[in-house]
Amino acid sequence: MAQALFGASFRGAGFLYLKPKTLDEAVSLLGSSGGQILAGGTDFYPALGDRLPASRVIDISALGEIRGISTESEHVRIGGLTTWSDLIRAPLPRGFDALKAAAREIGSLQIQNRATVAGNLCNASPAADGVPPLLALDAEVELTSAAGRRRLPLAQFLAGNRKTLRCAGEILSAVLVPRRMEQAASAFLKLGARRYLVISISMVAAVLEADAAGRVAEVHVAVGSCSATAQRLHELENDLVGLPAKPGIGASVRAEHLRSLSPIDDVRATADYRRDASLTLVRRALEACVGSR
Ligand SMILES: Cc1cc2nc3c(=O)[nH]c(=O)nc-3n(C[C@H](O)[C@H](O)[C@H](O)COP(=O)(O)OP(=O)(O)OC[C@H]3O[C@@H](n4cnc5c(N)ncnc54)[C@H](O)[C@@H]3O)c2cc1C
Repeated sequence: MAQALFGASFRGAGFLYLKPKTLDEAVSLLGSSGGQILAGGTDFYPALGDRLPASRVIDISALGEIRGISTESEHVRIGGLTTWSDLIRAPLPRGFDALKAAAREIGSLQIQNRATVAGNLCNASPAADGVPPLLALDAEVELTSAAGRRRLPLAQFLAGNRKTLRCAGEILSAVLVPRRMEQAASAFLKLGARRYLVISISMVAAVLEADAAGRVAEVHVAVGSCSATAQRLHELENDLVGLPAKPGIGASVRAEHLRSLSPIDDVRATADYRRDASLTLVRRALEACVGSR
């Protein structure tokens, strides 16, 4: 049974805190009378500021069944409640190096110990560091509700700045990463105004697989913080296929390859700087992939 650990009334608006113990219980609570999902709370609480939650809070942090990483025949399954620290510690093939590098860049160790993969995706910030590596890995999300489960490509799930295609009664129960490119080289680079505890000005993830002849067989490149949602650079990816997968590959990336990005001017950087920096990061990420083959 979900425990009502805390009930209170504030200026006439009652709210309730519930902590279900199973996924079934959590989705049935959400389906019956709604509520806001709380996982690690590292985005949830800062977004509240000094306000109280407007509706009841369903704390899903006790749902052990959706925490952890397992390898299935077609996918690596990352439970939604898996923390960034869990991910860093997990033995994963080299295709996941970019995702691990992104995890190490998320906040501080304390944040990585609390913050979850699903929270990063559902918060849908343009600067979410987990998104570019998961886009580059062709990840899908699994959404569970009282009505059942559905799967969506992550690229589709992220519908805009702070917008996703999650329906009210759904919990992001897992991220599914196809194993097809799990042995590919991968790299993640993040640029911020300082080295640690910083929101990205731009970040880039690349996953590159070479064929037996040492040419690019398949490559995926995603850029974050330069549009409402992180973007794959499909035109660049197509142009790189067949090129020698060796140092110097970065020179094949031209500014036009980044034209699908729509960076903005804000307190962290100008749009021009973001474009320029992203071009350099894309080149360096590709060099890192071929350098580590
Ligand atoms: C000091 C600090 C530094 C940070 N640094 C970074 C950084 O460098 N890079 C970065 O990308 N982020 C950073 N963050 C943001 C945050 O830590 C991450 O986005 C984190 O992964 C969010 O996970 P959470 O479990 O804390 O989510 P929560 O705060 O619990 O939830 C976030 C949102 O997702 C929803 N949600 C959570 N889990 C689920 C689920 N399973 N299903 C459906 N909806 C769900 C919640 O309802 C809420 O709307 C930072 C935050 C802080 C406070």
